Amino acid sequence: MIQAVLFDLDGVLTDTAEYHYLAWKRLADELGVPFTRDDGDRLRGVSRRPALEIILGLGNLTGTETEINEWMDRKNAHYQELITRVTPADLLPGVAELLRELRERRIGIAVASASKNSPDVIRRLGIGDSIDELVHGGMVERQKPYPDLFLRAARELGAEPAACIVVEDATAGIEAAIAAGMVSVGLGPEERVGAADRVFPSLENVSVDDLPGMTRQADG
Ligand SMILES: [Mg+2]
Repeated sequence: MIQAVLFDLDGVLTDTAEYHYLAWKRLADELGVPFTRDDGDRLRGVSRRPALEIILGLGNLTGTETEINEWMDRKNAHYQELITRVTPADLLPGVAELLRELRERRIGIAVASASKNSPDVIRRLGIGDSIDELVHGGMVERQKPYPDLFLRAARELGAEPAACIVVEDATAGIEAAIAAGMVSVGLGPEERVGAADRVFPSLENVSVDDLPGMTRQADG
């Protein structure tokens, strides 16, 4: 029987890609690097250092290790300032309904996100009271595709890994769920999340009984 559902944050509960784009855009402007929306699309899902390297490449710039660290910190500061604009309207379709239904069914709910900014985003989305645990990348040493973050979330909830469902939009996240011995739900195209036990385009119109492992007793 399923005891808990562990949600990734970005691309699952909300989409902060626009805020990442605007933060990189601001840094690019400061560095005098021409940076378009198409350039921004290339940075989707790319972590901070390789993303900065792409931007430096666009401007034929190089930096010392100290400068690179300073620029990465500056981008994160821009991002933290921009996400103050996040509101409950930024919840993706279907999320509020699914969280409500899980709560009614007394199924544990955790958010497990690599981003150390996730507590702030969760608070601004207005779902702090709808989740039981929030674990982020700063709480474990190894990030996805290692299973550590999901295992930590399960432990915090007092749930067995095999009784947890992970909802993820990234390949590395599905790999982490499988490595954790958990049931997995992938959101997005098959090429990206096809290894999951079940794939949906998004959480819109997905109810608890649609989740793998949630088969109603009457069915079986
Ligand atoms: Mg994600």
